[in-house]
Amino acid sequence: MTLSARASEVRRRFDGIDALLVSDLTNVRWLTGFSGSNGWVVLTLDRLTLVTDGRYGVQAANQLAEAGVEGDVLVGTSGSELLELVAQCARPFDRMGFESAHVTVLAHQQYQQHLGDGLVPVVGLVEAARRTKSPFEVASIERACHIADRALAEVVPTLGAGLSEAQVRNRLEVLMREFGASGPSYDTIVAAGPVNAALPHHRPTDALIEHGHTVIIDVGALVDGYHSDMTRSFVVGEPTAPQQELYDLVLAAQLAGLAAMRPGATAKEVDAACRDLIVDAGYGDWFSHGTGHGVGLLIHEDPFVSRASEATLQLGDVVTVEPGVYREGFGGIRVEDLVVVTEDGCRVLTASPKDSPCPPFPPTT
Ligand code: ZN
Ligand code: ZN
Repeated sequence: MTLSARASEVRRRFDGIDALLVSDLTNVRWLTGFSGSNGWVVLTLDRLTLVTDGRYGVQAANQLAEAGVEGDVLVGTSGSELLELVAQCARPFDRMGFESAHVTVLAHQQYQQHLGDGLVPVVGLVEAARRTKSPFEVASIERACHIADRALAEVVPTLGAGLSEAQVRNRLEVLMREFGASGPSYDTIVAAGPVNAALPHHRPTDALIEHGHTVIIDVGALVDGYHSDMTRSFVVGEPTAPQQELYDLVLAAQLAGLAAMRPGATAKEVDAACRDLIVDAGYGDWFSHGTGHGVGLLIHEDPFVSRASEATLQLGDVVTVEPGVYREGFGGIRVEDLVVVTEDGCRVLTASPKDSPCPPFPPTT
């Protein structure tokens, strides 16, 4: 699907509405290419209008043209003027959907004042269309994966060389920008040792990475607004028997999750493929999160892969597979790849080696 075809894909999903007010900025960006911080799209059956403020009028017109999106840009100066412009587009329509998951109570009251009583709450309509990634989108995500792979390859040999978690994080983020990313995809996680690595989403500190530590590095890059997401885990020095055993277990679980990934598989099945191995080995309560999540213009988006998920995987989903084990006193291990679901399974987009917890060329001192 090209960017210009996305509006039609959303219209096709209209059910009981004849217009949609898109207020979520990620959805606005996906529909129009517009990346500013304030704007609404009014989508009717034959027209697309982007309403924004004076800071973004020129940018919005340029970005729509660049994306090949046919639509008008209307510019207002105040919040209520913007809503009046939305109302001008909306008035002929009896039933206008609004994105109730993304609207505050206050905004809803303002919508009612300006747009009247025909508002219909709608959930996940653009998100459902956004979920299936086009080859163009996959290419951006793959470029982001490649940048994170290169950055990680540069820092891994320095693990155990006396650097802190924060220093490794800083190096990764600088390298990703140098390699062409517009930034990190999220706050890079570097978690080392028996306490910090036991927290799945630890924030890097000045704590030094030391011999004997397990180290979790969760790193992604941002390219064209698209995210990548990958985790690798390491042991500094020779792994102990429990460290090696748990690494092998998590890796086996992650490979089982990848093998289960195909169109038509339920998210529960993929989660179970990972989780059952870890549960059977006696470490079920060390695996304290879901198996994966969709990735795109957001770092966490549909579909979510967990025990509670009702999702079924589809062709074109871009999702992570990321089992992990965590326990204070031991530390933690997580292995995460990003994949695109293909006709016969999935294609793994992240390429960093994961066959061993030993960093290549470990320092000998
Ligand atoms: Zn991650
Ligand atoms: Zn993730």
